[in-house]
Amino acid sequence: MPTELTGYDPDLGNKFVFVTGGVMSGLGKGITAASTGRLLANAGFDVTAVKIDPYLNVDAGTMNPYQHGEVYVLEDGGEVDLDLGNYERFLDIDMTFDHNITTGKTYRHVIEKERAGDYLGDTVQIIPHITDDIKRRIREAAEGHDVCLIEVGGTVGDIEGMPYLEALRQFAHEEADEDILFVHVTLVPYSKNGEQKTKPTQHSVKELRSIGLQPDVVVGRCGDRLDAETREKIALFCDVPVDAVFSNPDVEDIYHVPLMVEEEGLDEYVMSELGLADEAAPRGERDNGWRDIVTREKTNEIDVALVGKYALEDAYLSIHESLKHAGFETNTSVNTIWIDADEMDGTVPEELRRADGIIVPGGFGTRGAEGKIDAVRHARRNDVPFLGLCLGFQMAVVEFARAVCGLEGAHSAEMDESTPHPVIDILPEQYEIEDMGGTMRLGSHETTIETDTLAHEVYGDTSCTERHRHRYEVNPEYIDRLEADGLVFSGRDNNRMEILELPDHPFFFGTQFHPEFRSRPGRASPPFLRFVRAALSADADLEGESESEGVTA
Ligand code: GLN
Repeated sequence: MPTELTGYDPDLGNKFVFVTGGVMSGLGKGITAASTGRLLANAGFDVTAVKIDPYLNVDAGTMNPYQHGEVYVLEDGGEVDLDLGNYERFLDIDMTFDHNITTGKTYRHVIEKERAGDYLGDTVQIIPHITDDIKRRIREAAEGHDVCLIEVGGTVGDIEGMPYLEALRQFAHEEADEDILFVHVTLVPYSKNGEQKTKPTQHSVKELRSIGLQPDVVVGRCGDRLDAETREKIALFCDVPVDAVFSNPDVEDIYHVPLMVEEEGLDEYVMSELGLADEAAPRGERDNGWRDIVTREKTNEIDVALVGKYALEDAYLSIHESLKHAGFETNTSVNTIWIDADEMDGTVPEELRRADGIIVPGGFGTRGAEGKIDAVRHARRNDVPFLGLCLGFQMAVVEFARAVCGLEGAHSAEMDESTPHPVIDILPEQYEIEDMGGTMRLGSHETTIETDTLAHEVYGDTSCTERHRHRYEVNPEYIDRLEADGLVFSGRDNNRMEILELPDHPFFFGTQFHPEFRSRPGRASPPFLRFVRAALSADADLEGESESEGVTA
């Protein structure tokens, strides 16, 4: 996105916007915060974000995507909560691992310091040691930015969240009033007779106040905008001005939330409360790039099959978002058709046959592997545009080895340790690793791209830098054999295979890395963009065929 930020202004100092959630989780407080941040960035401020996850895991890397959604990977290799992906996409920034604070990280650090003797003589306690560490982390992450949004995961009242809310209370005590804003995002449900109910909001604000926190702004998540009467009630019972109560109704696309927030005037209110109004670009001169991108008309439509293991959009969130970004650039509405690889059972389901393109995403473990291999085979043999990501790339190698090179029983050593042909094998540096946390090959690495290949056309360059998260790779012993039979490894990082393609196919492309983590609205990931274009031509061909069939019939 063409965001011309004016850059950090040291005279302003750091401003902190804390976002808490009430009543229940899953209200989209991250999207509300990211949208507000987008608008502040449009007004010229340098905005960053911190996500607090009160769980005991040190990072999200060891968590199951079915429970927690995808594990998002940062440039520096941090394995984090998917909300950081939303902040990166909405704010168009690259964050670091330090921008995700977890209980595991904080406690581990404090306990390590205790063992090292840093607190000799002291009793080490949640207050002040843990709370001090939380405050330090927030201040460090905010450094060099005009505004830092801090989202506290979970819901006010959760036991796990208590040390964080106490840290925020101390924070408010230590910083000047005009540098801090507390935003509480809460649910406003409808009663049976269609009335907006404020009681849950009143209760969650009461809970906040009992911890010593008074919200400055209340945002009500509701099916529609809040009625005037609802806003007045919330203002009265929660002790905020009516002007500080905002609606955040459902919208059809999360990328429209900034437009909604702007209509509500939340951005102006935040800027004026933080004393930023005078520094903000005047309304007419703000960056409109976001609005232009997300409101583009969709004149095309394609169906993309996603062949994976988890029937949950959040488990593959960045892939869905990357398809949307490619859709913005091609005026295409991309429908993703979910295919459960584990249920394929050696058959190719009808929905997969009808798809204009097929994606096999990343993953771990044996379940669904054969279904993914069958999906690759279907795409390869029937000229269906194919994009294989990480495990999808590896399964494409396995499929090719079995079906084209005739290497019977070829597999990844991850799925079958005793395969006669481990065409995908463990990375040498992983042999000795026993610790599962943060030990994969992670984060940004550069790939060198062969000229005059599809990869070269896709990236328009002789190199690309993308994010990784894997323990296995193409076994170097099989590279010559695979290439002799026609598979092209067009991107490499020294002796590591990073990109594969098939020359006599409309679009058959696999990446050992995860391009979905760098895709942004206005800057779609190159492999996704080219994949969507290929799927659009496949869709046009199909329609052409059925039209001409109609004529001859
Ligand atoms: N399980 C595979 C590996 O560890 C692929 C990982 C992934 O898809 N992120 O190499």
